[in-house]
Amino acid sequence: MSVTVVGSIAFDAVRTPFGSRERMLGGAATHFALAASFFDEVRPVGPVGDDFTEEDMAVLQTRGTATDDVERVAGGKTFFWSGEYADNLNSRETLVTELNVFEQFEPKLSEASRQSDVLFLANIQPELQLAVREECTAAKFVAMDSMDLWINIAHDALVRTIRTVDCLILNDEELEMLTGRPTTVAAARELLGWGLKAVVAKQGKYGATLFTGDDVFALPAYPLEHVVDPTGAGDTFAGGFVGYVAAQGGDDPGHEELSRAMAYGTALASFNVEEFGTERVARLTADEIAERVSDLHRMTAFSEAPVALRG
Ligand code: AMP
Repeated sequence: MSVTVVGSIAFDAVRTPFGSRERMLGGAATHFALAASFFDEVRPVGPVGDDFTEEDMAVLQTRGTATDDVERVAGGKTFFWSGEYADNLNSRETLVTELNVFEQFEPKLSEASRQSDVLFLANIQPELQLAVREECTAAKFVAMDSMDLWINIAHDALVRTIRTVDCLILNDEELEMLTGRPTTVAAARELLGWGLKAVVAKQGKYGATLFTGDDVFALPAYPLEHVVDPTGAGDTFAGGFVGYVAAQGGDDPGHEELSRAMAYGTALASFNVEEFGTERVARLTADEIAERVSDLHRMTAFSEAPVALRG
């Protein structure tokens, strides 16, 4: 089995209160692949320029990620993004977005990528996400992400794409912006009404909440004393979440399975933010993930002991 992902493969320039990097490997599909590769073979689809080195490709190939569908565009420049974080690390400003090779990109998927059981449409132009969605006719579970930029400039295309997937993973504020609803719960309900089976609201350092037709499951972020760079945390979360679903077969996951997937997403994202870019997750081990998942279970499970309430 494998997981196909389309999304940015990028170079990022990032400034946080704890330091900066002028140019590091990044991109939504890259962060997703580094996390999901703990569960299954990942097949990223997307272009890079000739500034993308063999070392960058080697990082993308960590844990067997298959890069046959990463197209090197001769004379092209890799997607570039630059952002700066506020002191509390929960809000950031995008300084530069250069689509570069993504501007003219037309996805040509190999048979292996088209046959994947699980598909993740990581953040990129919604038209591109939809083109890949339509090619992956064998996918049993399809999840996607997006961002405020596309809600603002490509709303209709984004809505069309959302209507073709099973699960939307988006920041809480973006869910509200997308639907025009005043609360995350109302936004999630509206989206479930569009035919989605699950909505995950990412809440940055506060964690994430899962909404399905059956129930709601909220999980706080893994408690960390030091956070260095949140870039890619959402994509890493998605890699853990979708990777877990793929490892279970991807067949119509229910509320409980998706709740367990939330713990893997949360654990993986917690490692991502401890260092810049891909640095921490690239050398992460399976044992380290298992330890944090089990910590999360211990910290969030409690047994009920009702008291007689007055009134
Ligand atoms: P996250 O912190 O999870 O939102 O993801 C940050 C990653 O998304 C960075 O590595 C960027 O390269 C990538 N990114 C930022 N803006 C865009 C965009 N407009 N389209 C696609 N990817 C983007």
